[in-house]
Amino acid sequence: MGRYTGPACKMCRREGMKLFLKGERCFMAKCPIETGRPAPGSHGQRRGKLSDYGMQLREKQRLRRMYGLQEGQFRLIFRRAMKAKGVTGENLLQLLELRLDNVIYRLGFAPSRRAARQFVRHGHVLLNGHKANIPSIVLKAGDVVEVKKDEKSRRLAAQFIEAAESRGIVPWITLDKQAYRGEIHHVPKRDEIGAPVNEQLIVELYSK
Ligand code: SF4
Repeated sequence: MGRYTGPACKMCRREGMKLFLKGERCFMAKCPIETGRPAPGSHGQRRGKLSDYGMQLREKQRLRRMYGLQEGQFRLIFRRAMKAKGVTGENLLQLLELRLDNVIYRLGFAPSRRAARQFVRHGHVLLNGHKANIPSIVLKAGDVVEVKKDEKSRRLAAQFIEAAESRGIVPWITLDKQAYRGEIHHVPKRDEIGAPVNEQLIVELYSK
């Protein structure tokens, strides 16, 4: 399946929840989820009760869309989560959260995950002192990410740090705002990952 290029807000309306795909707009009153716009399509307002499979599928779509991944990429991460020690659902969320693009977003160097991905791809980021332009790299505790010491790179990041910081930086990353640097303090636990999804339903879906 190709990359979705339609309106981001439509995906939130389809999932009936905020997926935070558009940066600052997502925190404003005009966000269509805040204003109560229904799901898209002529049946948007009167969707019936979902089957078990339907609920599992919806949950997977929510999480996949929240992190802006295509089905194939999401499946690969799920397989990795299954092979790792521990609880598969929690592993899945941790692998998603520890992606380089997500960490850049969490640090407030970019307004959305999509923008963070572009920021990484365009070479504005260093990982442990080395250039890193692959958004899917999964970080570990102790890894340090930094915006390149370049006027343009830092100017781009500076636009969003204040707003992100005022909303609060996640507890598993430490931010040094002056140095445009963040360190993974520890691997996030389930309750430190805000994703409002039931990951167990996704495990059930892929275990069929
Ligand atoms: Fe649009 Fe953001 Fe609101 Fe989603 S959360 S509907 S992307 S403004």
